[in-house]
Amino acid sequence: MGRTVKPSKAEFLRAHPLCCFCGGRRPAFERDHAPARIVFRGKHGPDDFEFPACAECNRAAAMSEQVTAFYIRSIDQSYEQLDEAEYDKLIRGIVNNAPEALPYQHRTCAPEPYTRYIQPDAEERTVSIPEIAKRHFELFGTKMLYAMYYRVTGKPASSSLRRIVVWAQAGTPAADQVRFKASQWFDDLQVAQRPNVDLGNQFRYQTGHNAAHGYLGLHMSFGEAFVFFCVLGPAREMIQLRPKPELYQTIKILGDRIKVRKP
Ligand SMILES: [Zn+2]
Repeated sequence: MGRTVKPSKAEFLRAHPLCCFCGGRRPAFERDHAPARIVFRGKHGPDDFEFPACAECNRAAAMSEQVTAFYIRSIDQSYEQLDEAEYDKLIRGIVNNAPEALPYQHRTCAPEPYTRYIQPDAEERTVSIPEIAKRHFELFGTKMLYAMYYRVTGKPASSSLRRIVVWAQAGTPAADQVRFKASQWFDDLQVAQRPNVDLGNQFRYQTGHNAAHGYLGLHMSFGEAFVFFCVLGPAREMIQLRPKPELYQTIKILGDRIKVRKP
């Protein structure tokens, strides 16, 4: 059995000429991985999760992907072996580029020196997640939502849509709620489920698409760290929900917003 030959970058971009993260406004420039490979041990992500991205959207999400990857590694106690070198590299990247996104011990104190978080010791991990990191997770989830929308519908998500992106730490009551919400949605939509992607439990997902109404639901979990529940749907219908779901924004705009707003 021969493996199917992976298309070259040029072939990929010919088949997917427009960025799926800014509504197809800009030409695609990259074959972008979503979830980013940095999220996976040894950067071994799933093979077929590649999406057309412009340079701007690609760059705008990079820090959010690093921050999210760092928290996944930090929270997930189930990794048999935390790759210290990989983890250390992640931490150094955040210390240098987004120190405000590091966890902190008390709301009134500055973050402890980052070396504190290298030890995979549960006792030491009673840390708080700063608001700015939460915004990074939200962007990370939004990027996944747009990617899966493109994958399922063949069209880039665009400004006629509104979005819900909710996340929670696995094992918390909030995570149970997220799962419950997702199960309700998926029942309502009567959707076919996609088979789970098996990379251990590093990344599992379900999508539900209601073509008649134009909704896409995405439920995903990253190891024992985070669960996400995301929905993209027609703005004119979703506007009736409370709280009112956010309007579609490009990944470039969302990324730029995180950069300018300091905590
Ligand atoms: Zn773009």
